[in-house]
Amino acid sequence: MKRLSSALFLPLCLVLLLSLLSGCAPTGTAAPPSPAVSPSSAAEPSPEPSSEPSSTPEPVVYPGPDIPLTVWEGTVEHLFFHPVVCYPELAFDGDSAEKGIDDWMITVTEYRRILDSLYEKGYILVNLNDVWEEYTANDGQTRMRRAQLMVPEGKKPLVLSFDDVNYYEYMLTNGFTHKLILGENGELWSYGLDPQGNEVVSQDLDAITILDQFVEEHPDFSLNGVKGCLCLTGYQGILGYRTNTESTDQSPEFEANRQKEIRAVRPIIDKLKETGWYFGSHTYGHINLGKEGRTLESVQRDTRRWLDEVGSLVGETSLLFYPHGARPDGDDVRQSGPMFQYLQSEGFRVFCAVGGSSYSKIKDDICAVICDRMHPDGLTLRWSRERYLPFYDAKEVFDYEVRPDYGYDFE
Ligand SMILES: [Zn+2]
Repeated sequence: MKRLSSALFLPLCLVLLLSLLSGCAPTGTAAPPSPAVSPSSAAEPSPEPSSEPSSTPEPVVYPGPDIPLTVWEGTVEHLFFHPVVCYPELAFDGDSAEKGIDDWMITVTEYRRILDSLYEKGYILVNLNDVWEEYTANDGQTRMRRAQLMVPEGKKPLVLSFDDVNYYEYMLTNGFTHKLILGENGELWSYGLDPQGNEVVSQDLDAITILDQFVEEHPDFSLNGVKGCLCLTGYQGILGYRTNTESTDQSPEFEANRQKEIRAVRPIIDKLKETGWYFGSHTYGHINLGKEGRTLESVQRDTRRWLDEVGSLVGETSLLFYPHGARPDGDDVRQSGPMFQYLQSEGFRVFCAVGGSSYSKIKDDICAVICDRMHPDGLTLRWSRERYLPFYDAKEVFDYEVRPDYGYDFE
């Protein structure tokens, strides 16, 4: 595994700082030459796993025939996460990336505490695709409506989504896992490097494998084995594989490596789908749809590229997750502007922004629904404890041991 050279790394940090401050991962397509730093040579888990491999989990049967189900009429809560920090000493090391990671990410410890709390409070994971459905109204137009969502009595439905599950270059040196891989028995692991540079294959360091294990241990946390939605961009590939094209490198070598990465990621996608994960678009270039001067043409170009390079691998999806939580056309609540109409015409039906509640609104002029997702992260842990009490108590979740001293609003 090569590391980023310092010549590459410093400019990356600057990009990272700017992009993290503005809400998420780097925008645009000016990625560094990815094959040089892609850990693709480790597609096979060569080092010893850090714990005993679990056998492939039995298909989850919960809720089974003897559990009474009831129609859920209330709000379906929706929380989203970014990749979780597995090596806080790399994330919170005082470099230019630290503040952004502190704002928008949580640590593995915090993630586990949040899952525990959600489970204890009676939440059960459901698929966002099962919350809404398309139907033909009396006037012959197709519209969206709430689907009849059946949940076990006493349980509260919850959607989880995970943004930017791309294992961006900047994450590789900042305390995150590097990619998902398959073990000998076809089970999912994460691959990465610890702070000393040793290769680590684990199921305890990545939001995906941690939730897999949690559901295996608590089958009644998931309706029919559902996990969460993986919201993918495409500009640095997907799931840790550099499947993206690069306008600056059209050499046969680049393309050969890209095809190798595509072959390597396909079985990962299959495994994820088989185990309750599903996919949505986070746009190709993590573009800000609400940015002043954003043109329809740039949105069309971005969408085509997402469909070509990501949709072609993960399959059709009607779920779109706005980067930076930014709504298109300035506002999609009161209007369906040209960008919104275009995105809808490409098959998207559920449009998710970010907000302080699990808001949703069925559009009456077009077949679409718009939603907000809540965001467990450093900012809300520190400053929105009250608002998140229905899910967990930030005071108990907060990772005091490793977080920098940026304050919080509880005693
Ligand atoms: Zn994002």
